[in-house]
Amino acid sequence: MADEKDRITTPENDPDNSTDDGSRENRGRACSICHRPESKTGPLTALPGGMLVCRDCMQRAFDTVQNNLNNTDMNTLMENITKGIGSIDLSQFGIGGRPAQQKKAEKKEKPQKKMTMDDVLPPHKIKAALDEYVIGQDRAKKIMSVGVYNHYKRILTEPKDGVEIRKSNMLMIGPTGSGKTYMVQTLAKLLNVPLAMTDATSLTEAGYIGDDVESVVSKLLAAADNDVEKAEHGIIFIDEIDKLAKKKNLNQRDVSGEAVQQGLLKLLEGSRIEVPVGASSKNMMVPMETVDTSNILFICGGAFPGLEEIIRNRLNRSAGIGFQADLRDKYDGDPDILQKVTVEDLRNFGMIPEFLGRLPVLFSLQKLTEDMLVEILKEPRNAILKQYERLLELDGVKLVFEDDALHSIAKMAMERETGARALRAILEEFMLDIMYEIPKDKNIGEVVITKNYIEHRGGPGIILRSQLPAQREGTV
Ligand code: ADP
Repeated sequence: MADEKDRITTPENDPDNSTDDGSRENRGRACSICHRPESKTGPLTALPGGMLVCRDCMQRAFDTVQNNLNNTDMNTLMENITKGIGSIDLSQFGIGGRPAQQKKAEKKEKPQKKMTMDDVLPPHKIKAALDEYVIGQDRAKKIMSVGVYNHYKRILTEPKDGVEIRKSNMLMIGPTGSGKTYMVQTLAKLLNVPLAMTDATSLTEAGYIGDDVESVVSKLLAAADNDVEKAEHGIIFIDEIDKLAKKKNLNQRDVSGEAVQQGLLKLLEGSRIEVPVGASSKNMMVPMETVDTSNILFICGGAFPGLEEIIRNRLNRSAGIGFQADLRDKYDGDPDILQKVTVEDLRNFGMIPEFLGRLPVLFSLQKLTEDMLVEILKEPRNAILKQYERLLELDGVKLVFEDDALHSIAKMAMERETGARALRAILEEFMLDIMYEIPKDKNIGEVVITKNYIEHRGGPGIILRSQLPAQREGTV
């Protein structure tokens, strides 16, 4: 490598350019940053100091420097670079062709407005907006709206008389497909704040294979277009949090469960974290930004299978004791048992007390009933049925779903036990043939999805344009 020192290589002057890729790889040249061999990266550039850098890494380094310096710094730096490595053709990295000033100027065009309390809706309006998208879950929507409102009050106003408002991180418990993720997504859109979502199962203790907990902050920064201040007002949603429960009878170190709960403590509480910009892992060429997590709203969600049993046992135990002793099996058939969850139940489930202490807003979502599923099909602003109706409308065909057909679909979805998630998959199966066949025949004016069609006892109802009342035909 020493003889390559200070030799600048470009595709034009590279004496190795005439050799084939195989011989190059044999010589073991690889990018000093990403470690990919030259056969994969294309020609490498030798920098002073003996470093070999591929085009991608070089481009990334320049982009980052460019984003972080002001125009004057940038110009000076470019001059120095050009002097130092004069024979590099910068245009091969897409740098020379576009002046630095131009890029910066474009960035300046949209000045970032600071978030204020005027940007935050009061709880009743947050709830009303959530109502347009999320069916049922009234109590959860109410708790969430108040929690979010308080959160932004806390971070957007100054503390007064030493009274510090506590952080309102949330823990959401609810069966699969009951709308946990959907509620958070809708909320972030409403508030116009960046949102990062991650799955707790992908997290491991730092140093082990998997993402370390800080990677979630990195994702949020990316969602905020690398704007640190915007990220610090954002939301991080960690799904499947129940998978971090302490494992019972485990002989080896629990690197993906309890240790991750421990690792998350400082993030939830609020601390300054160094995160790589534009990459998911830290390395020497990736620039770092410091993000303060004290004002980031953390929402954790999970289905907590088996938790119902823990709650039921506790309730049945206390119901059978004392003066007002009740029937021991009073809570056995209670469908809303999850609403009665306490921190103690979650500790018994395997969550550590310090972790639970940092998620003070605790609430549960209901399991979706058949009626709720039917409503989900037709009521939300972007309901699945409305989407299909619109698709066929574009073919000039009216799509009608009979009510009992919707109930049959809801029943089928309930059998799959994946909540509302199953609805789209089921409808997709039935709509595929219709969407394939209908455009073939221009005479079709209306398609009726009947219970018989859903239950495979017949085809959908087809009404020809000529059979439709005259005024309807005109409007289709
Ligand atoms: P989970 O509770 O497992 O996070 P999701 O929020 O991902 O479930 O729900 C999956 C999909 O089902 C959502 O994208 C949404 O379209 C629909 N959905 C679930 N619950 C509701 C609800 N209560 N209201 C409206 N749509 C819902």
